[in-house]
Amino acid sequence: MRMGDRIGFYTRSFFNVFYPNYCNLCDASLNSQENHVCLNCLYDLPYLNGNNLNMDKLNRLFWGRVQVEHVYSLLDYQKGNQSQQVLHQLKYKKKRKLGYFFGRILANELMQNERFDKIVPVPLHPKKLKERGFNQSSVIAKGISDGLNVPVDENIMDRIVYNPSQTKFSKYDRWNNVRKIFELKTPKSTLEGVHILLVDDVMTTGATLEACVQEFNRIENCTVSIATLAARI
Ligand SMILES: [Zn+2]
Repeated sequence: MRMGDRIGFYTRSFFNVFYPNYCNLCDASLNSQENHVCLNCLYDLPYLNGNNLNMDKLNRLFWGRVQVEHVYSLLDYQKGNQSQQVLHQLKYKKKRKLGYFFGRILANELMQNERFDKIVPVPLHPKKLKERGFNQSSVIAKGISDGLNVPVDENIMDRIVYNPSQTKFSKYDRWNNVRKIFELKTPKSTLEGVHILLVDDVMTTGATLEACVQEFNRIENCTVSIATLAARI
């Protein structure tokens, strides 16, 4: 490789790493107006559209279990649909910017609703965090935070139990598998009267989120709402 070619090669590699020009979902090249996802893919995503009926269904998952103010989700999570691809790219292909991008979109949806005081991403166990290298919920939370101008606080809660992948558990097992796995690490008094927006990448049975909310429900006057990138209706 000649020197000029080599410089060109490295410069291109550099720009491709930091300024990816391809759609994360279909690999089409992006024009200057598009970021991370092409407009075709963005248009075709299975949005829940803040539909009250859908949000009600999500809320009902928590009835009789924990006290949740509102539940919001951007995408309808169904096996094989595009929402799975978004989550896969974020979680396993480590496309953090994609998570941030969708966090900003979520923020737009949330804007018409309540005010939140703090945004808390569902924590990963330190061992899992080390394995993955980042918390996918944190990057979504950062996008929401910048959109709403509400701070992210990652020092409120720890995940104290490393639970194995839940994919092979039945719905019943999942409820049992995630109980008591979070622990507050901040004095309860600091969260009194605070409205927390709890953020996760995906909600299926709601069991992980329930375990998290349980901890906040022990605090006087602490309200919790939930926002996820995708949810199974
Ligand atoms: Zn695309």
